[in-house]
Amino acid sequence: MAINDAVDWRADLGGGTHVAIVQAGTFRSDAGALFGPVPRLLWDRLVTDEIDAENRLLQALNCLMVETPAGRVLVETGIGERVDEKTRTMRGYQGSPILAALRAAGFDPGTIDVVALSHLHFDHAGGLLDAAGERGFPRASIVAQRAEWEIAFSENPRIVASYVQPELALVRDWGAEGWADGEREVLPGVSVVPTGGHSAGHQAIVVRGTGAGARTLAFFGDLCMRPWSANPRWVTSFDDFPLDSVEAKASLFARAADEGWLVALSHEVRTPVGRLVRDRDRYRFEAV
Ligand SMILES: [Zn+2]
Repeated sequence: MAINDAVDWRADLGGGTHVAIVQAGTFRSDAGALFGPVPRLLWDRLVTDEIDAENRLLQALNCLMVETPAGRVLVETGIGERVDEKTRTMRGYQGSPILAALRAAGFDPGTIDVVALSHLHFDHAGGLLDAAGERGFPRASIVAQRAEWEIAFSENPRIVASYVQPELALVRDWGAEGWADGEREVLPGVSVVPTGGHSAGHQAIVVRGTGAGARTLAFFGDLCMRPWSANPRWVTSFDDFPLDSVEAKASLFARAADEGWLVALSHEVRTPVGRLVRDRDRYRFEAV
């Protein structure tokens, strides 16, 4: 089935390339950690309607389905099905995991050729396996940066807290077959671009349509989670290399703004896609 109405957002980029957002449930993250060094006075009003009694924000697990004449790419897999009740409660995880969400939207996970992951944190790489531990995307290769696979198994206690290493170990060989060293076109018109910043091997995914009226859509992963991430200086506490995040955001966002790219946000519930518009020394996210 082609990209259809049963998705959270969709667009035709031109030349037979279509994109759609499929939300693989929601979870909750500490608000202060999401805003990093930004004072609460500046962000409080942005989140009044979603902050809960435990000071957590509602975060969507946005995945991007890309259909091109050359094949299908899924970007991100959410938290997945392999979580126990304790973790589910702790994370405030609700809704359909990716395999069920894809099927509900009319996509057979068995038809996906490439799964591209911005990075390997639990809320992006968690859905690679089904509940039984089998490959959720039997035909697909996994494309993440080699640097990300390497850092994911570090013994540094901060890294151990961000990656679910026992689960990643189960998909390590599968991941190694597809890992990227730098920028790579994974299918014609779909490229991964290393950014670092949020994690050592974090990457963006850029999808380019062709022909008259062609459009470009970028998925900047957790460098651009929510509308307020449009300010390059607003970097989360979860970013392992914040100065790199600021630099990567500034250069990627300049390009996205100047070339009118669509931008898909990794964790925004209500307005997952928009454009970046220059605003003084920063950018403003305008939903489409
Ligand atoms: Zn994330």
